[in-house]
Amino acid sequence: MSKTFFTPGPTQLHPKVKEYIKTALDSNLLSISHRSSKFDDLFANCAQSVRKLLGAPDKMPLFFLSSGTEAMERIIQNMAAKNTFHLVNGAFSERFYQTAKELGKNAQVLQAESGQGFNFGLINVPDNTELICCTHNETSTGVMLRKEDLESLKSLNPDKFIALDVVSSAPYCELDFKHIDATFFSVQKLFGLPAGLGVLLVSEAAISKSLQLMSAGTSIGTYHNFPTLISFAKKFQTPATPNVLGIYLLSKIAEEYLNIGIDQIRQDTITKARYIYNFFEQHQQFKPFVDDRRFRSATVITLNFKGEIKKLKTLLDKHNFEVGSGYGEFKDKQIRIANFPMHSLEQVKELCTVLDSYPAKS
Ligand SMILES: *Cc1c(COP(=O)(O)O)cnc(C)c1O
Repeated sequence: MSKTFFTPGPTQLHPKVKEYIKTALDSNLLSISHRSSKFDDLFANCAQSVRKLLGAPDKMPLFFLSSGTEAMERIIQNMAAKNTFHLVNGAFSERFYQTAKELGKNAQVLQAESGQGFNFGLINVPDNTELICCTHNETSTGVMLRKEDLESLKSLNPDKFIALDVVSSAPYCELDFKHIDATFFSVQKLFGLPAGLGVLLVSEAAISKSLQLMSAGTSIGTYHNFPTLISFAKKFQTPATPNVLGIYLLSKIAEEYLNIGIDQIRQDTITKARYIYNFFEQHQQFKPFVDDRRFRSATVITLNFKGEIKKLKTLLDKHNFEVGSGYGEFKDKQIRIANFPMHSLEQVKELCTVLDSYPAKS
């Protein structure tokens, strides 16, 4: 019997992936030139479906990269000469911050404890900041930022760029593109696809900034800098040979999600998340890690676990389930449950029942 992966990514593949990989193989798509009109159509279709799904403006520049982590580097290089500011509350927001430091930026940071959100009313962004970097859903801890907080951040800092990592929340996240100058995701999370493709959307203002930096002699990278990416994207192409299979699969799954409707996807996500949090609210062995309900993630649910993680994994394995381990120092003390569109309420209920049976006699 096949397994159901509740891991936060790579995760359960979308049930249609097999069929679409077969279609891609049968249609010669993987042999065509990435400079052909057939590829241009694929690029255009995929970009349009993704924009529509995320609620992005029709013409917003969209780039295909290799991963979410690559998008962080591209953003730092192209959107700030010097001064960046980071909200850090876990491993992925820390990666964004470290990237800025490694690229020699003057990176300032506001750090929150693991499992905590931020009090946005009290955030003091230094005046000279060019770029503020935030992680919408901190996958390592299961903390999700609120829409209204992100909006207030922009209204208090209208002259600064805001870059938002939505890798483990897109397309569930509701984005207001008036407040965002760069946002990115990768496909192995909520899209349920094989890894190896990142998507970055940026504002026209962000592109202008990269051109300014380039003419001032600041290094903005090489083949994947914004000016090069946009010059190819305008022709519906990529600077280097891209992950054509990944782009094809993303276009198909984005269409699937558009057909279901983003409101339905959000509603289902909330229903499943509530079920899990409620199930474990008063539990003996499992307890939601994030205390403040306002910051509890709908897409990655982190539970503290009292017991032997090895035994738990064996129990889950026997029932053909896999969940994520805790991140870093929490490896043996927590589990993380991905709640993505491929996961049905039925599967979620079954998983909760199996977890509840720990320590079941084997
Ligand atoms: C998984 C993840 C990343 C890294 O994405 P890659 O595609 O593996 O580079 C970045 N940020 C968040 C929030 C993530 O969950």
